[in-house]
Amino acid sequence: MGNPGPQFGYRHPLGRVQPCRGCTGERRRSLRKRKSSDLTAVLDVRNLSVAYRQSSGTLNHVVEKVDLKLFAGQVLGLAGESGSGKSTTALAAIGYKSSNVAITSGEALLGDRDLLVLPREDLRAIWGKEIAYVSQDSYGALSPATTIGHQFIQTIRRHFAISHADAVARCIELLRSVAIPDPESAVGRYSYEFSGGQLQRICIAMAMACKPRLLLLDEPTSGLDVTTQARISALIRELVSENNVATLYVSHDLALLRECSDELAVMYNGRVVEYGPTAAIVDRPQHPYTSALIRAVPSVRIPAKIEGISGQTPPSVVLGRCSFSDRCAYKREACEQTDIPDLLRNDGGVVKCLFPLKGQQARARIDTGRATGLSSTAPVLKVSNISCHYLFKKEPAVNNVSLTLRPKEIIGIVGESGSGKSTLLRAIAGLQPFSGSIEFDGEVLAASARKRSKIAKFGIQVIFQNPDTSLNPRHTIFDLIRRPLVLAREGKISRSDQHDIVVETMRSVSLPTSILDRYPSELSGGQKQRVAIARAFAPKPKVVLCDEITSALDVSVQAHVLQLLRDLSDKSGTAIVFVSHNLAVIRSLADKCMVMHLGKDIEQQPTEQLFNSPLQEYSRELLRAIPDLQCGDNENAFSPMRVSVKGEIN
Ligand code: SF4
Repeated sequence: MGNPGPQFGYRHPLGRVQPCRGCTGERRRSLRKRKSSDLTAVLDVRNLSVAYRQSSGTLNHVVEKVDLKLFAGQVLGLAGESGSGKSTTALAAIGYKSSNVAITSGEALLGDRDLLVLPREDLRAIWGKEIAYVSQDSYGALSPATTIGHQFIQTIRRHFAISHADAVARCIELLRSVAIPDPESAVGRYSYEFSGGQLQRICIAMAMACKPRLLLLDEPTSGLDVTTQARISALIRELVSENNVATLYVSHDLALLRECSDELAVMYNGRVVEYGPTAAIVDRPQHPYTSALIRAVPSVRIPAKIEGISGQTPPSVVLGRCSFSDRCAYKREACEQTDIPDLLRNDGGVVKCLFPLKGQQARARIDTGRATGLSSTAPVLKVSNISCHYLFKKEPAVNNVSLTLRPKEIIGIVGESGSGKSTLLRAIAGLQPFSGSIEFDGEVLAASARKRSKIAKFGIQVIFQNPDTSLNPRHTIFDLIRRPLVLAREGKISRSDQHDIVVETMRSVSLPTSILDRYPSELSGGQKQRVAIARAFAPKPKVVLCDEITSALDVSVQAHVLQLLRDLSDKSGTAIVFVSHNLAVIRSLADKCMVMHLGKDIEQQPTEQLFNSPLQEYSRELLRAIPDLQCGDNENAFSPMRVSVKGEIN
């Protein structure tokens, strides 16, 4: 195909229009939509640097010389691990700064107004009207004390002189546009009467209430199940193009940004390390960090072993050398000796690396290496015809579900929120009354954990989703791991033996022994989840139950945790029941897979069989709903924009 010419070219973040060489078809289509008259950025962020003021009075620099441009009707994705500076950049770019934040350089131009120097009063007139913000925490964003309608009307009348009746009509129209059922009555309801997915859609509707020119989305779908996530992403995309609003979409989920964004900026250590058309960046990453980030994302289309990124993000901006050099497998001497300049990619993007990756080097994925044949040893766990009921609910939460699990085997249980997967896990753990039978190692288990034998109690361990609530904040890491170990043993163990076993357990989950005397609040999210894993594996259980344990972690930490579980299971022979709404995670980890829907086990197959030829229509719909980095330019590739999962919208 011929070169589309500079008038349709990709606009370089520093302002130069680059000819579009090697753009993907998808990108070319999106560029054609952007008429030459629209080439003025709605928000033009230049040379933005941000620091946090510390109690000692010194500045901790966290964002360094970032340039971003946001165009009408386009979505710019901002990706990176936790601590990469993406949320700080996004908030600073709209002029928001808390008392300990200092903008040390740059400008953020909304038209001819620099948001970084405008007084707070002027910013308040812009926020909500010209710039809207949607946060991850929709529960926290809406007041539980007033009705949804009241909060909409307050927002609308703050910026427009319209009557109460007109504001109510606008509110109903907005709620209808985001598919809230019965919007007329929804205006009189409170936030706690809606599901998580509905609340997030209400927040998006509220953000669009004043027809903003700029929309900032900060991880708006994290924590939601995959089909709700797909619906919300499709809704956002629709609203952006219908309202021609410039959008900055902050997320650690590269697969989601692959589907939702036109351009992608990858941040590391407070800098943009790669920037350009999304499809080009994801399909041909040139920065080793982008490539590593992509390899850490599990794929639902391709069975591949995911790899975490070794090492940690530096806590503050590194100057005078490449900040990724401590973690980079391609490092050379020159990388340590200078600040790294931006190099132009041949598709018009930029990459901050002296030795950009080429071709296969960038996208090599590793086979899962998992044995395909399942073990033929006797089952360690046998669940037969389990049903669970909740008070005041007619339909059972779990309805006649059976499964068997052999040593070393990992079963993945997937399904939307409310499908009964966590309830099933709680029943196996003895935390939820059930009818039916559960056998553990030949012993029929009582429904309540209290009535189970010591062997069964410690032989089945649970790891919960949120280590902040599952780890006692008053216990040190040493005590947290030591306690189940001591309780599970029959005889006494000397203090020095306890210490040795705890140290060995910590090493097995790659935790440094220097944190033994620390408390959970002093650790990162990934470290806390490792402590929870160490605690579960300390009494040498035969079965470990994992309930969405990676859903709050970013992709590279998630990759480490999944790798760790697989290694521990292989070494100790422990069988694992792994509940997740993320099918890609299940594909990278589990030997077999069960799909649950409305409390029922609708399909159970070896993992590869299920992913290659699902038997049930619901499983096929669920598979299609997942965004994936492996879509490429294939028009027929699965995409949440092309999918609707049938059933009640939650
Ligand atoms: S500049 Fe060197 S160390 Fe930094 S990412 Fe590139 S190859 Fe790796």
